Amino acid sequence: MDVDRLYLYGLVGIVLSGAVAFLALLFVPAPYGRHARAGWGPTLPTRLAWVVQELPAPLCFAIVFARGEHAGRLVPLLFLALWQLHYLQRTFVFPLLMRAGQRRTPLTTVLLAIAFNAVNASLNAYAISHGALRHTQAWLADPRLAVGVALFLAGWAANLHSDAILRHLRKPGEAGYRIPRGGLFRYVTAPNYLGEIVEWIGWAIATWTAAGFAFAFFTIANLAPRALSHHRWYHERFPDYPPERRALIPFVL
Ligand code: NDP
Repeated sequence: MDVDRLYLYGLVGIVLSGAVAFLALLFVPAPYGRHARAGWGPTLPTRLAWVVQELPAPLCFAIVFARGEHAGRLVPLLFLALWQLHYLQRTFVFPLLMRAGQRRTPLTTVLLAIAFNAVNASLNAYAISHGALRHTQAWLADPRLAVGVALFLAGWAANLHSDAILRHLRKPGEAGYRIPRGGLFRYVTAPNYLGEIVEWIGWAIATWTAAGFAFAFFTIANLAPRALSHHRWYHERFPDYPPERRALIPFVL
């Protein structure tokens, strides 16, 4: 099968799995973190699970990217740097810093994440470094690049800052939950997810590729229902949960 056809099938797979995940996650939250529960088979320590499930994203991207005929060009290299900035942090720094106590993650969710990350990273790298050259030097002057990169960096900063606030709610070794306050938590329950969504919308705009837009769609489909589940979860457990705080979009949702 030729590679362009494989790329197309991969895109369809990402969009379809995003749609299925969205509907499923509205009713059944993914069973990790506060929504973890028995009955999902064997488990791994959560810290190890994060490293193993995220590793295919920087790895597959680097391998597919390096094999492309545009791998040495400036704009594709800028995209490589952005991708690795996000995924090296997520794969190696986030799990090291997290305060997960003895928490464990089902192998099923780890395997699903591995499959998603391998396919998604390969598609995004392929879109940038292979085939017709969209990202010439002229792309540097295209407003989509400036707007997209600005959104990507703003979303990344919001995601990191919000994850840091969550992390500091626990002392080392603790695994309980408190109401997060400060930063974008003034407005929403899940500012880390909001940041992540803005980041990948920025990526889609900056790269202007079908793979980028498919990934942004998947991220929204995956994280919006989880933000709603987190929001309900806090309201059920904390009578003093700030009533004006929305789930994901300030003042709206
Ligand atoms: P959560 O917000 O559920 O948890 C983040 C970390 O903070 C976990 O270690 C969690 O512990 C801890 N935590 C959360 N709330 C509290 C609280 N109230 N009190 C104390 N500790 C708390 O995020 P996820 O684990 O779902 O995701 C982690 C990162 O990965 C995020 O940045 C997210 O954006 C990203 N992500 C991206 C996805 C994508 O589709 N691109 C998919 C999934 C995640 P515990 O685990 O014990 O609950």
